[in-house]
Amino acid sequence: MMTGQVQSTPLNLEKIRDDFPVLRRQVRPGVSLVYLDSTATSQKPTMVIEAMDRYYRQSNANIHRGIHVLAEEATAAYEEAREKVQKFIHAPSSRQVIFTRNTTEAINLVAYSWGFSQLKSGDLILLTEMEHHSNLVPWYLLAERIGLRLEFVSVTEDGLLDQSDFERKLELKPKLFAFTHMSNVVGTINPAKDMIAKAHQAGAVALLDGAQSVPHFCVNVQELDVDFLAFSGHKMCGPTGIGVLYGKKELLEKMPPFLGGGDMIKRVTLGSFKPNELPYKFEAGTPAIAEAIGLGAAVDYLSGIGMDAIAQHEHVLVRYALERLAEIPNLRVFGPSADKKGGVISFVMSGVHAHDVSQILDQYGVAIRAGHHCAMPLHEKFQIPATARASFYLYNTFEEIDRLVEAIYRVKDIFGV
Ligand code: PLP
Repeated sequence: MMTGQVQSTPLNLEKIRDDFPVLRRQVRPGVSLVYLDSTATSQKPTMVIEAMDRYYRQSNANIHRGIHVLAEEATAAYEEAREKVQKFIHAPSSRQVIFTRNTTEAINLVAYSWGFSQLKSGDLILLTEMEHHSNLVPWYLLAERIGLRLEFVSVTEDGLLDQSDFERKLELKPKLFAFTHMSNVVGTINPAKDMIAKAHQAGAVALLDGAQSVPHFCVNVQELDVDFLAFSGHKMCGPTGIGVLYGKKELLEKMPPFLGGGDMIKRVTLGSFKPNELPYKFEAGTPAIAEAIGLGAAVDYLSGIGMDAIAQHEHVLVRYALERLAEIPNLRVFGPSADKKGGVISFVMSGVHAHDVSQILDQYGVAIRAGHHCAMPLHEKFQIPATARASFYLYNTFEEIDRLVEAIYRVKDIFGV
């Protein structure tokens, strides 16, 4: 086995790491941080922090309403961020890019607006067993209110979506197929293009949860022909409080507003209103202006490095990590082989609870996550209450994986397993 020092990557890691101030810190005296929790949230480069700082120092004003210099600058920066996101996901128009708070809100928007207006009692929604709670609970709430049926595509032992089960369930003629592009637990990258095409052939609208795909590899909404795509800024080097819903124009235009208030209206009289046009129809009230600008800077940052290079880096990292973890006795990794997954590894160690693994790793500066990762049904499927999860991003190094492995050996020493 080669060690981390001699692995190769397309990225200039020294330079990239220098862009992230937090990566320089020690978490306790003499212990530097190994951040392996980017699936929960990513770290932020100086460029993003400075873009938000600059906005607050120089151009802070409310958008769309004022005609003074600051209001015009703030509006221009906010709308420029929308255009950056449009290009990043290859959307036909920036009007199809709606700013939300996060992936969760984007999916709820579709459930409440599209779901309430287009679905009726008895209609079927197809989900999968590997969804994050964000792509389950909004549909359960809708199902309770209007009497929908729900079906779930099953997950195989090795953490893939069972494609024959998918095809069988499409024969039930679902109205919507909502699924994750990449699992936040086992890292599986689902064959989205093919599955969306099959969903369309069966007459379903397709919603893709891109929370874990958009930050990590190139997602092209036109090539995928996806109807809705939801993702979060904070997982892609941007700030918290900003997310995106992309939708096909003909669907968005038919949908009623999700929230009412300022900015989402064209005209209000006593007793009635006329909704604004896209995308403002879905952006009620003062939005997260600085956060949108921060997301725009994150898009610039990721594009400057190149999404293909980032994906390739994470691929070699995950392959190396899987090889190193396979050396450790009594450690079980969930999910498919490196060629079918992104940079997320969930594992259990016999005789040690995942929370204890995480707590001891933290003593060595290694930040991972333990629990059900908001995917309880998938953990139930694997018949385990919790997993320990290490996840990687563009700033992680092979040496950090060596530090993870060394720390896991210390867990074994402590528990005598
Ligand atoms: N979907 C997936 C696959 C996720 O991993 C997450 C967050 O971890 C979400 C949805 C929810 O994202 P947010 O909490 O930013 O809304």
